[in-house]
Amino acid sequence: MEDKLVRATAKNNNIRIIACSTTKLVNRAVKIHGCHPTAAAAFGRMLTAGSLMGSMLKSKSESLTLRISGGGNARGILVISYPDSHVKGYIGNPKANLAPNSSGKLDVGGIVGTNGNLTVTRDLRLKEPYSSQVPIQTGEIGDDLAYYFTVSEQTPSAVALGVLVDTDSSIKSAGGLIVQMMPEADKSLADLLTDRLKKMTPISTLIDTEKSIYEVLDSIFDDMDLKILDELYPSYRCDCSRERVEKALLSIGCKDLEEIYKEGKTEEIRCNFCNKIYLFTHEQIGEILKNIKRERTI
Ligand SMILES: [Zn+2]
Repeated sequence: MEDKLVRATAKNNNIRIIACSTTKLVNRAVKIHGCHPTAAAAFGRMLTAGSLMGSMLKSKSESLTLRISGGGNARGILVISYPDSHVKGYIGNPKANLAPNSSGKLDVGGIVGTNGNLTVTRDLRLKEPYSSQVPIQTGEIGDDLAYYFTVSEQTPSAVALGVLVDTDSSIKSAGGLIVQMMPEADKSLADLLTDRLKKMTPISTLIDTEKSIYEVLDSIFDDMDLKILDELYPSYRCDCSRERVEKALLSIGCKDLEEIYKEGKTEEIRCNFCNKIYLFTHEQIGEILKNIKRERTI
């Protein structure tokens, strides 16, 4: 089934809902990065969260960076997302893996760790990027994100993120859900919603049984005046180019670049997001250095 993200409201616009299935995009990402099962689940949850949050951005030129770093063996996970819900990212240690936790689930919290922060950065292009961070609660990512929305954005939210990983690390299903209460909503609605979401079958299980994202929403909100607003198609996409990598090479500084040039070797630069390799020969590095020096004398 195709990955899909749906935006909806319920209870007369008092509840805002974003839900997505991300099986294909997570599968693609964990293959590119060679993730082991626990790392695949953690990275998949972050990518799914990224898709959901990207779709909440207001303008087309914005992007959002979601970073979690809790001192665990995953060594940090970073995801960048865009308004059309496409994402890219990486995990510090794709081989991070632990035995299942006490409830028999992949121990995402264990590899993420709880000694650190969840950071959300909005890049508005023209203005300075805006960052806010909250301390990690459980490292399970869904809980941490719900905490972030409630504390940093003062929007009571429930977040469900689920990834089912097969023994060969391929993804059986992945998806997520963000449910937010609008400020004018009353308390009893919050209680009803909390109860409903607590009883909900895990979203990855629903998607694994071939339920479409619309059916998932129907199963939770069908008696709550559910209104679908629109749909998007999440994907894993990297937009790296030789030009961008060259810029990154420049950022290491003239002195270091000169060192590399003197070594006389071909420099290999790998894109963190898609693992594509860009080669810069001795002569090409020489050209880049010449250009920097020329620009400086103008
Ligand atoms: Zn790339």
